[in-house]
Amino acid sequence: DDNHDRTANDRVKVILRVRPPTASDGRRPSPLEFDPTKPNKLILHRPDAPVTHTEFEFDRVLPPGATQQDVYLSGVKDVVDDVLKGYNGTVMAYGQTGAGKTYTLGNIQPQAIGMIPRCAAEIFYQASSDPFHSYSVSMSYIQIYMELIQDLLNPQSDNLVIREDSGNGVFVAGVQEVPVSSLEECLHYLAVGEQNRAFAFTHLNAHSSRSHAVVMLTVVKRRRYLTPAEKQAEKKAEREGVSTHKVKVGKLYLVDLAGSERLKKSKSVGQRATEARSINLSLTTLGMCISARAMDDKHVPFRDSKLTRLLQESLGGNAKTTLLVNVASAQEHADETMQSLSFASRAMCV
Ligand code: ADP
Ligand code: MG
Repeated sequence: DDNHDRTANDRVKVILRVRPPTASDGRRPSPLEFDPTKPNKLILHRPDAPVTHTEFEFDRVLPPGATQQDVYLSGVKDVVDDVLKGYNGTVMAYGQTGAGKTYTLGNIQPQAIGMIPRCAAEIFYQASSDPFHSYSVSMSYIQIYMELIQDLLNPQSDNLVIREDSGNGVFVAGVQEVPVSSLEECLHYLAVGEQNRAFAFTHLNAHSSRSHAVVMLTVVKRRRYLTPAEKQAEKKAEREGVSTHKVKVGKLYLVDLAGSERLKKSKSVGQRATEARSINLSLTTLGMCISARAMDDKHVPFRDSKLTRLLQESLGGNAKTTLLVNVASAQEHADETMQSLSFASRAMCV
């Protein structure tokens, strides 16, 4: 049984990715120092701060030259492989707006394709090369904005609620789940969701970086060649959403988190202040849930935010979770970079 080679409280894997400077970044030297002989360390220099340099250690540090494939191999492929075995898995991108979260997860340019399409491609590739199982894959796409859940594939629907039952575990009740059978179909629904997201935000007079976007891929894997009695038992298990020897259900959550930057207090009034509070609540709760997992803490505040409630099973233990922390290399972002590195090191729990 695959269950025996894991401990319930494996900690979250933390990958740090540094985005190369863009045209709008200044020309001052980067405050980040890498050591090619130590691919899991980096140093942040802040000559003007009380602590002038801080050393950090993560599962992997990817400098600006790293490719999407480097990101994929250092902490995403493991998660997909697990999902294909019938476990839940989560890949989350954390960081200030502009640090590269959406590029890392959702980029669709063929020469630098992001993690969401890579995961989908892997699932379809493994499905097509496995003669012993048949697969069905479905996709949902939601966003959480000011603690409300919106279905990006069904924008007319009301705000969705999170439910829990013994068979399905934690799920979004009534969310649109579209069957997908190829990478192209997956890309199509990603684009549809993106469009609905942009439209919703234009109407709200808000920016999409203020919401969490979650793509969910559910893989149902059935063993072929069953007796009629086995088939009956499996149908029942599948209705209840449980994995058995012959049917395995794995759920992959790909989460593009809201920008982690702190809004300037003076500018935060009205809707912006409410946005800031709900982002702060969910990211703080996320941090606490991640640390609690590593410490095997019994009181974990999953229910304090929609995001952590939704990810409860993934954050809670028997599932692989990778946190991709995106930071910018430029000097002008050093304060936000410091904040993101602190979050990342709390997630490492060392
Ligand atoms: P975020 O989603 O965190 O707000 P984006 O992913 O939109 O940030 O990235 C901001 C800009 O930087 C985009 O123009 C994006 O194409 C570019 N970018 C981000 N990461 C990289 C990278 N690793 N290599 C090249 N360009 C990048
Ligand atoms: Mg983005």
